[in-house]
Amino acid sequence: MRKVRYELLGRKAMLVSLIMILVLSMLAGCGKGSSKSESASPKDGATYVAGTYSAKVSGMHEMTVHVTVSDTAITDIKVDHKETSGVGEPATESLPAEIIETQGLGVDAVAGATLTSKAIIDGVKDCLKQAGLNEDGINKLLAIKKKETKEADQELTADVVIIGAGGAGMAAATTANQAGKKVIVIEKASKMGGNTILSGGAFNAVDDGSETALANKDSVEKHYTQTFEGGDKQGDPKLVHTLVDNAWSGVVWLKELGMKFHDNVFTVTGGMWPRAHKPIEPEGTGFFKTYQEYIDKHDGITMVYNTKADELIVENGIVTGVSCTGKTGNKITVKAQNGVVLATGGFGQNVEMRVKYNEINKKWPTLDSSIPSTNTSGITGDGMIMAEQIGAKLIQMENIQLLPLGDPKTGSLSGNIEHAVESRIFINLDGNRFVNEGGRRDEMTLALFKQKETKMFIVMDSDTYPKGNEVNNFGETISSLVDSGRSLKADTLEELAKLMGVPEKNLIDTVNNYNRYCKGGDLEGKKDEFGRTLFTDTDGINNGINNGPFYAAARVPTVHHTMGGVQINEHAQAISTSGEIIPGLFAAGEVTGGIHGTNRLGGNALTDTIVFGRIAGTSASNFVK
Ligand code: ADP
Repeated sequence: MRKVRYELLGRKAMLVSLIMILVLSMLAGCGKGSSKSESASPKDGATYVAGTYSAKVSGMHEMTVHVTVSDTAITDIKVDHKETSGVGEPATESLPAEIIETQGLGVDAVAGATLTSKAIIDGVKDCLKQAGLNEDGINKLLAIKKKETKEADQELTADVVIIGAGGAGMAAATTANQAGKKVIVIEKASKMGGNTILSGGAFNAVDDGSETALANKDSVEKHYTQTFEGGDKQGDPKLVHTLVDNAWSGVVWLKELGMKFHDNVFTVTGGMWPRAHKPIEPEGTGFFKTYQEYIDKHDGITMVYNTKADELIVENGIVTGVSCTGKTGNKITVKAQNGVVLATGGFGQNVEMRVKYNEINKKWPTLDSSIPSTNTSGITGDGMIMAEQIGAKLIQMENIQLLPLGDPKTGSLSGNIEHAVESRIFINLDGNRFVNEGGRRDEMTLALFKQKETKMFIVMDSDTYPKGNEVNNFGETISSLVDSGRSLKADTLEELAKLMGVPEKNLIDTVNNYNRYCKGGDLEGKKDEFGRTLFTDTDGINNGINNGPFYAAARVPTVHHTMGGVQINEHAQAISTSGEIIPGLFAAGEVTGGIHGTNRLGGNALTDTIVFGRIAGTSASNFVK
């Protein structure tokens, strides 16, 4: 599924030089001076045709791997990339160093950056093949691993222990520290960020009574109603109120910590209303830049990376800590004087779990490994499993959210060309619209599952398409998306239809109809045939799709968020199967269930991490055994 794409650079040139080398070595016989050919039998896997080779591969984004080899060694690896800082980026630094150190390719993927790691290794393999190594040689290098010496077991103690350094975990850690507590954060990846850092950054919050809210006819009550009803009223009303009532103070808190947001609000896909605040920094990076700066300026938060929490420790019915496995396989026991906060995220990358829980209501035709996920690889439901083992109640696990916006290769949200919901349409392979593109995420995705090849294109014109070197939500420039074929561009709709491989007439008719709906509808008395109501973007410049160049980008369903999880109350205390509060255990973020119901509104996940992360941080700080 996640096939890495190669574009070999200079293959022809390589072939010519390889032939020349072969001829020269034959001429020279097997004498001295022809050490390359003499020992270059590829099966020994350690000799190359010296030079620098390049290969283009796709991690989370496109990147180019450059490998320099001498006759006998890999001497340099450079990776040109735009991987998200804190997600793919660590792999682009540590993997090349380890490959050079070991002169082997048996390096482990960097935790939390599997896709990037795989792409780098594939890129290096490709370059080495260009340098004359055959499959045998590659396989030998793949078997070479760094020898780790197991470090000593450790016992650590803090006031508050946080498991998971994603959005909720870091909000909890910072809050607990602000309350004067010593905090340890356990994180299985090599950096903070989790899924949160991969998000588009949209943060729903209403500053009730403010000019912005009044201008948008928005209110906290409307945020409540849309969240509750958008989740088919399955969310716990108390938790939904807690979420929306504290959303704006979350923005204020972040701003006080130094985080910067754009002034305007926008409607994120599935957000139902323009109330999403967009950070200045791309994706979710602004949150973690802010937390890291806080940690750098304040004592008392210790980050323990590359360490996986395995089991919660329970003493006399109280959760007192967690036992973990360190990077080298050593045991790390972490004890809390006050509370333990579970913030390990959802289970979007645990195929077994999503198949199992989808069986309950069979909402999705399939959630097997053919369906990609937007999630980072470590989002495997560990927290739910750990909590269930000690008697916590898991609720609404069957509520699994997919987005219709996945990159066909990686499932990631990157490569998405839209600026806002109001200015784009979804087109199937027949060249037709098929759903209200401003509707609920589940309705849009279920409709997409019914389309040919389960695939569609986002289509928009140049009025609202980012220009020139402007970057989208994911830090990608438009030109690079067009250059790499991830976005299609054409001066006319006819040409665009050709590039998309859809019937031209259908696309043109569809766009014409849509344009009439944009101008107030009334096509045969209908407002919009799919019930769409969101047409005008926040700048008020969208009058339909009529100004070329036109753009299209292919998209598929992708597992995005798991709404079910550990049951909590409004103080973020975990609840047991018998309905009791579990002393010492607090939970926040995607690991919890019962807030979003069947369908989480776009832009509410980050709000969840901040609101309940802060509450969990406070509750865990106040907990006394
Ligand atoms: P949320 O949005 O709820 O904060 P995120 O996905 O942003 O969730 O973050 C969850 C974090 O928890 C990720 O960084 C992930 O690597 C980490 N994590 C998941 N399971 C474990 C575990 N067993 N031990 C330590 N960290 C974990």
